[in-house]
Amino acid sequence: MTEELMFRPLEFKILNLLSSFYMRYYSTNNPNHQVGLKEAVIKGLAPDQGLYMPEHIPVMPASFFEDLPTMTFQEMAYEVIGALFGEDLNLSQVKALVDHTLVFDAPLVKVEEGVYSLELFHGPTLAFKDFGARFCSKLMSMLMEGEERKVRVLVATSGDTGSAVANGFYKVPGVEVIILYPKGKVSALQEMQFTTLGENIHCLEVDGVFDDCQRMVKEAFLDQELNEKMLLTSANSINIARWIPQCLYYFYAWCRLPEKDKKLAVSVPSGNFGNLGAGILAERMGLPIDVFVASTNVNKIVPDFLHGLNFKAKPSIATISNSMDVGNPSNFYRLLALYGNDEALLRKKVKGFFFDDEDTAKVMKKVQCETGYTLDPHGAVGYLGLRNFLRMNGDDYVGIFLETAHPGKFKSVVDKVLGIDLELPDRLKEFMKGKKKAAALPNDYGAFREFLSSAN
Ligand SMILES: *Cc1c(COP(=O)(O)O)cnc(C)c1O
Repeated sequence: MTEELMFRPLEFKILNLLSSFYMRYYSTNNPNHQVGLKEAVIKGLAPDQGLYMPEHIPVMPASFFEDLPTMTFQEMAYEVIGALFGEDLNLSQVKALVDHTLVFDAPLVKVEEGVYSLELFHGPTLAFKDFGARFCSKLMSMLMEGEERKVRVLVATSGDTGSAVANGFYKVPGVEVIILYPKGKVSALQEMQFTTLGENIHCLEVDGVFDDCQRMVKEAFLDQELNEKMLLTSANSINIARWIPQCLYYFYAWCRLPEKDKKLAVSVPSGNFGNLGAGILAERMGLPIDVFVASTNVNKIVPDFLHGLNFKAKPSIATISNSMDVGNPSNFYRLLALYGNDEALLRKKVKGFFFDDEDTAKVMKKVQCETGYTLDPHGAVGYLGLRNFLRMNGDDYVGIFLETAHPGKFKSVVDKVLGIDLELPDRLKEFMKGKKKAAALPNDYGAFREFLSSAN
């Protein structure tokens, strides 16, 4: 995909000339391909299909870490986001971004001795993707200020991404969101989380499967004539505006951890590896995390790599932790880049474990029974990875695992595994009361194109 295909190159060239003092973002496929913040965010993916990375990573000063335990989540985030984006955004923009994003907490909950759950599911759609989606929407609308054209965000979803993006972009001025999802292939709860909003959120129920939705979105990005008429962008998880803000809760977790005299292991249940990559970003910024645990289900491409095999994409396998069923983890090259493309260093700092559905279900029961804590299937994989690491590394470490979704989001699995009827949180119940608004779309690009062209 060439630059010319997607957006007006002249605009960006001028912008880039003016912005030589600003942070540059390079492509993981070619360090010489560099762009400014606006282009990196609006494009999402580099034209050579590489991922954008900040050209330098700021290290937070010692005074920051001394003050951290007394700071609020917001105060801490002003500093971190200021360090990362301060060359492009002024202080009031940084504050507005953080305040828009952090409207919910991320508590650190003790599950058992030396094991803490970092609960990232207290946002509007009860999954950690809310952090990135909220930040991304706000940053996009800031970068689009003064632009006459509206930006249209195209999203193909199999469920979770659609709800996080729809809720993150809901009523954001200057941005229209178009969600394509496969008819009958997402759960009722997921569907209600994006189809009941209305306003600037438009839902298309496609007579096909997820891959058809994805293909139509890709085709739209490659449609030169369409892109001359309108500004199309994506808000998928490889976008720096979704990826970078995820580093914030690692800092927050560390400052609330009681046992700071021990070494720290952080286990991240992973699919596309954006979340783990953001943890490494925090560590590169000076946060004292001693080891990361990459925990996956049987889609174990990265654990295999960490055990010495070559990185090799495979078809994905369906599991009960289905938001991590990823056969080609797109953020892998970010992990490498963060360690200077030194594979040995990556293998030293990140330990990999994988688990099948039986292991996952078993530990959900065990933890529920022994501690009363209800894990969702993704958090359960994170917990298992951490436990395995701690078993081999004795008493030197304290551990945190990321609980990436509320168990209620996976109610059918959780109920079945635990033999309970889990009470849904009020926020999820609210969605179920709404009215579904979605237009039917045939599985045909021409029809999608017509929808976009007529929508103005
Ligand atoms: C997306 C998702 C993951 C995987 O996160 P990555 O950043 O893609 O590794 C894990 N758990 C849940 C609940 C998710 O929705």
